[in-house]
Amino acid sequence: MKTIYFPEPFRIKSVEPLRMLTREERERKIAEAGYNVFSLASRDVYIDLLTDSGTGAMSVDQWAGVMVGDESYAGAECYYRVQETAKRIFGLPYVQLVHQGRAAEKVLLPVLLQGKKYAISNMHFDTTRAHVELAGARAIDCVVPEALDTTAYYDFKGNMDTARLEQYIKELGAENIGVIIMTITNNSAGGQPVSVENIRKTREIAHAHGIPFMIDAARYAENAYFVHKREPEFADSTIEEIVKATFEDADCFTMSAKKDAIVNMGGLIGCRNREIFELVKQRCISFEGFITYGGMSGRDIEALARGLKEGIDENYLRYRIGQMEYLAARLDEAGIPYQSPVGGHAVFVDAKKLLPHIPYYEFPAQALAIELYKEAGIRACDIGSFMLGNDPDTGKQLEAEFEFTRLAIPRRVYTQSHLDVIADALENIKERAGRIRGYRIVEEPPILRHFTAKLLPL
Ligand SMILES: *Cc1c(COP(=O)(O)O)cnc(C)c1O
Repeated sequence: MKTIYFPEPFRIKSVEPLRMLTREERERKIAEAGYNVFSLASRDVYIDLLTDSGTGAMSVDQWAGVMVGDESYAGAECYYRVQETAKRIFGLPYVQLVHQGRAAEKVLLPVLLQGKKYAISNMHFDTTRAHVELAGARAIDCVVPEALDTTAYYDFKGNMDTARLEQYIKELGAENIGVIIMTITNNSAGGQPVSVENIRKTREIAHAHGIPFMIDAARYAENAYFVHKREPEFADSTIEEIVKATFEDADCFTMSAKKDAIVNMGGLIGCRNREIFELVKQRCISFEGFITYGGMSGRDIEALARGLKEGIDENYLRYRIGQMEYLAARLDEAGIPYQSPVGGHAVFVDAKKLLPHIPYYEFPAQALAIELYKEAGIRACDIGSFMLGNDPDTGKQLEAEFEFTRLAIPRRVYTQSHLDVIADALENIKERAGRIRGYRIVEEPPILRHFTAKLLPL
C-alpha cells in the first residue's frame, strides 16, 4: 500500500516561470550579495523559502474578487462581506480591518497596556514583542519546556506553561499585567501547535485574575488542523467547530491575514468589549484609515474575505500540513535533524547538529542557508546566532539557544517536485557537511543586522 500524503485540492491554471542559474552563477550571486540571502534578487532564486507571509497563491475565486472589489471610501460592499465572514468564523462581535498583523498590534496593544508593566505570552512574535515594548511594557515568554527539545516528540510544543504563568502573575502582580497573549501556532517555537485544552486553561487563569486574554491568530487554521489530528476531544470536530472553541471567551485577537487567510496583504483585530472596540476604531482612523477600509484597497479586502473561508477548508489544510509532513519524512529518511515533530508552516533544520564543527560565532545556520542556495538556488534563512546579534551592552556576539535554518513553505505555491529538490539538496549537503566552513561578519549595522550585514567565508 502506498501512502498518499497530500493530494493537492487544486490544479494549476496560471504559472510563474522560474529559472535555475548554474552553480557558478549562484556562487557569484551569493558572493555579490555579501553572503546574505536578504540581498539576493528574487529572480536569482529558484525556490524561495524565506517566509510564508504574504507569499501564498490566491485562488480563482480570490482573483475574481479582486475584480469586483468595491473601492468606496466608506461602507464598501467588501467591508460588509469581511465583517460578516470574520464574525461568523471567530464568533467575536467586533472586527476591524487593518493592513497587516503588526498594524493590528500597533492599534490594539497600547489600549490594553496603558499603565501596565507586562505582557505574557506562550511566545511573542518579534513584531508583537516590539509593540509591547513600544507601549512601554515588557514582553515575557512562557512556553512549555518541551519546546526546547528539538528531537523529543510532543503533540503541543507551542503550549503555554500554565504553572509558570500562575507563578509570574503571583510575582509580578495581576494589576501590572495588561494582557496574556496566546500565539497560535507558536511561530517562534517552530510553528508548533497549541491545544484547545491549554488555550482554555490559560484563558481561565487570565480571567480569574481580571487580565484580558488575547489570541495572536496568524496561523489559527493550521493550529485547528493540528488540534483535529492530535487532541482526542476534537477528533470528530470540524475545523469551524475547533476555531469556535479556540476563540470562545477570548477578549480580543490580532491577526496577520498574510498567513492563514492566504492573501498578500491584510490584517484583522477582533474584540468582545465595546469600549475597547471604540478605542480601536479611533486609533485605526489615525494610523490605518477610515474604519471600513482600514488601510486596505477594496480589492484586497474582497480577496481577504474569500481567503478566510479557503484557509479553514479541511482538504486544503490536509494538503498544507501534508506538505510539511512529506518534507519531514524525506529528511527523516536522510537522517537530517530538524525541530520535530514538524510545525505548520516551516521546517526548521537543526544546523547545530548537521554542522557540529561550526561554532555559534561562525553561524552554522547561516552557513547552511548559503549552501542551500549554492546547491539548488533555494533561499532559506538563519534563525540562530546570526539573527540574534550582539549583546547591546558588551557588543559581544550572543549565543542562540538553537541554530535553525528555516525552510518556510508558501501556501499553494510549490509542488511535491520542489519539495523533493529541497530534500535532495539537503542530502547532498549532508554528504559534504564536514567540509563546510563558517562565516565571519565584515560589515553590520547596530540593530537588526541580519537583514543587511555582509559576510565572508572563513
Ligand atoms: C507574521 C506574524 C505577525 C505580524 O504580522 P505581519 O502581517 O507580518 O505584520 C504577528 N504574529 C505572528 C505570530 C506572525 O506570524
